[in-house]
Amino acid sequence: MTALLPHLLARIAQDGPLTVADYMADCLLHPDHGYYATRDPFGADGDFTTAPEISQMFGEVLGLCLAQTWQDQGALTSFTLAELGPGRGTLMADILRATARVPGFHTAARVHLVEASDTLKRVQRETLSANDVTWCDTVADLPNAPLFLVANEFFDALPIRQFIRAGDGWRERLVGAEGNALSFGTSAAMPVDALSDRLGDTAEGDLVETCAPALAIMSDVADRIHRFGGAALIIDYGDWKSLGDTLQAVKGHAYDPVLAHPGEADLTAHVDFEALAGAAAPLSTSRMTPQGVLLERLGITARAQQLAKILTGDALENHIAAHRRLTHPEEMGTLFKAIAVHPDGTPTPPGFDP
Ligand code: SAH
Repeated sequence: MTALLPHLLARIAQDGPLTVADYMADCLLHPDHGYYATRDPFGADGDFTTAPEISQMFGEVLGLCLAQTWQDQGALTSFTLAELGPGRGTLMADILRATARVPGFHTAARVHLVEASDTLKRVQRETLSANDVTWCDTVADLPNAPLFLVANEFFDALPIRQFIRAGDGWRERLVGAEGNALSFGTSAAMPVDALSDRLGDTAEGDLVETCAPALAIMSDVADRIHRFGGAALIIDYGDWKSLGDTLQAVKGHAYDPVLAHPGEADLTAHVDFEALAGAAAPLSTSRMTPQGVLLERLGITARAQQLAKILTGDALENHIAAHRRLTHPEEMGTLFKAIAVHPDGTPTPPGFDP
């Protein structure tokens, strides 16, 4: 039994079955037993690896993309350089190293990290010990200033709800208990306002996911960019429209049944980029671009060749494998997608299509 399970069972006994979002939120961020709240899950010894942990090249090319976007908007003399859900802080460290020689960029940038986990804040503090960094618990705490922001594998960690089409309404998928084990069930059919636009493109029995926290965060970020200027680059796995059950658990680099180890496995769901783009209105949203295409356009292969010159043996093999892993269609290249949002009338960030 995991340390979180008794808490979940007690909650279900008292209040009835949980929504998938309640389950996900407790599993990931419960203050005592949540997955992110209690550990550093990244890397070979952890449960999964993310793009910035695979190679420094990921953050380097994204950093230069942000710096070019900042220059394209007139090189504002003071702005917030922010990341949502920075994990170990590796992506921001690579962004800062790659942009160190962009004239004026570091002088103008105020680095802010939005992170909910105290454990990961400590890891980030170590990774970025050479930099002046401010931490925020939520996007609402960011300064009122131009905002250049990146979020990699952040939105997939936010709690989703799942709804199954039933006639003109929806049955919500719920987490209940059978004895001391968790089990899935469904609510009675009901109307769901947030899904009224999905009645036209779904059939009886289809499952659709919603992520209200993602839309609230995107809308807050967009509002700041609309008022003060800036851009946001969002990279995640997902697709243009949510359809089907994408909730998954990963533990020790392998898939795990989603109810098996609450609080001890990473839980994620695919990002609905169409919904994020909708929440970013009135900003312009780029077309959704596969990660591999974006990184190629931002020059990752030239950077890989440059780095390869100073590597030999295993280090060179690992470097070549990392480039492939980030870009190849059979690896992360097409599974992961990216969008950029920016004020109407400003140039589309490099690497993206309008
Ligand atoms: N971007 C990193 C880590 C992705 S994991 C990388 O690419 O390696 C998700 C990150 O989001 C973790 O740092 C986690 O603690 C953080 N996180 C999850 N939910 C959050 C929330 N509601 N608010 C702020 N940070 C959150």
